Amino acid sequence: AYNFAAGPAALPESVLEQAQREMMALPGPKASILEISHRSPTFKEIIESAEKNIRTLLGISDDYAVLFLQGGGRLLFSMIPMNLLTKEQPSADYILTGTWGKAAIKEAKKLGSMKVAWDGADDKYTYTPADSDLELNPNAAFAHYTCNETIEGVQFPTEPQTGQVPLVCDASSDFMHKPLSVDRYGMIYACAQKNMGPAGVSIVVVRKDLLERSSDELGSYLNLKLHADEGSLMNTAPTFAIYVVRLVTDWLLNDIGGLEKMYAINQRKAKMLYEVLDQSGGFYEGHARQDSRSLMNVSFRLPSEELTTAFLKQSEAADLTSLAGHRSVGGVRASIYNAVPVAGVEALRDFMIDFRDKHAN
Ligand code: PLP
Repeated sequence: AYNFAAGPAALPESVLEQAQREMMALPGPKASILEISHRSPTFKEIIESAEKNIRTLLGISDDYAVLFLQGGGRLLFSMIPMNLLTKEQPSADYILTGTWGKAAIKEAKKLGSMKVAWDGADDKYTYTPADSDLELNPNAAFAHYTCNETIEGVQFPTEPQTGQVPLVCDASSDFMHKPLSVDRYGMIYACAQKNMGPAGVSIVVVRKDLLERSSDELGSYLNLKLHADEGSLMNTAPTFAIYVVRLVTDWLLNDIGGLEKMYAINQRKAKMLYEVLDQSGGFYEGHARQDSRSLMNVSFRLPSEELTTAFLKQSEAADLTSLAGHRSVGGVRASIYNAVPVAGVEALRDFMIDFRDKHAN
C-alpha cells in the first residue's frame, strides 16, 4: 500500500527494513536501540551522526546549533517566545498562512504582545503574501512564519524578507524537502514525524547568538541554551526517534544523493497531481492558489460529499491510504512527503484520472 498520511507519515522502505533488522540488536552492543543508554558510546555515535548528516544536507555552519528536543511542534510554539522575547523586545511578528501559524500565535500570545504581520483568513488561507504586504515591526524580537501549512497545502515559494529581524520558521511539514539558505534564518524548527522520522523528536536549527537571550529563570527543559550546552542530552533523549532520524538522513545523503535531488523528485511528484487537478475540468478543485501550492500536501475538494466519500473508500480499497483531508477542512489531502515513492504518486494520479472519468458529468 502507498501511505499518503499527513503525519506520522510514510518512511522510506529501506529505513523501515534497517530498523527492523537492527531491532533485536544493534551492531556492536548486544541490545537494541530501545534498550541502550542515551549516554552510551553507541548512542553518542548515533546522535552525532544524525547531527552531522543534517549539517551536511543543509550546509549548516558553526554559527548554528542543531538540537533534538521532545514535545513536538506544539511545545516549540511556547518555547520560542519564552526564549527569544526580551525585556527590550517584548513583541514578535507572526505571518499567518494557515492553521498551524494560528496555533503558534495562540501560544505565543500567552507570553507577549504578538502582532499579526499578515493574515490570510479572509481568503480561507489559500496563498502566501508578497513581502510588500507584510506589516513588519522593525523592533520585533523575531518574525515567525510557517513555510508549509500542512492542512491547507499552502507553501511559501521562498522565505519572506524580514531585514534585521531574525526569521523563525516552522518547517515541520517540509523540512529537508529542498535545500535552504540557513543563514537567512534565526531559527528553523520541525517535528520529525513527516519528513524526518517517527513522532517523539523535534529538530531545531538555531543561530547561536540568539541562545544568549534564554533566561536563567526558565525551567531547564524550556531553556534552549541549556539544550545546546548539553548537546541535546540534558535528560533521557528519545533514542529511537533520533536513531530513525539518523537512518532517514543517511538515506537522503546516500540513496537520494542530497537535497537538490530530493527537490527534483518532489517537484516531479507534485506536478503529477496538480496536473490532474488542472486538467479535470473543475471536478477536482485545489485549495491553494497556483503560486502557493505545496509540494508536500496536495489539498483538494470534489464536487460533493458523496463523491468525496466514494473517492476515499475506493482509494483505500486500491491500497492508496490515508487520503482524507484534515477534519477541519474536509475534502482530500495527499501528503507526498520525501518518503512517498514516485510509483505511489503515479498510482494515485491514475486512480484520480480514472475516478474523474467515471464520475464527472
Ligand atoms: N507545525 C506544523 C506545520 C504541523 O504540520 C504540525 C503537525 O502536524 C505541528 C506544527 C504540530 O506538531 P506536533 O503535533 O508535533 O506538536
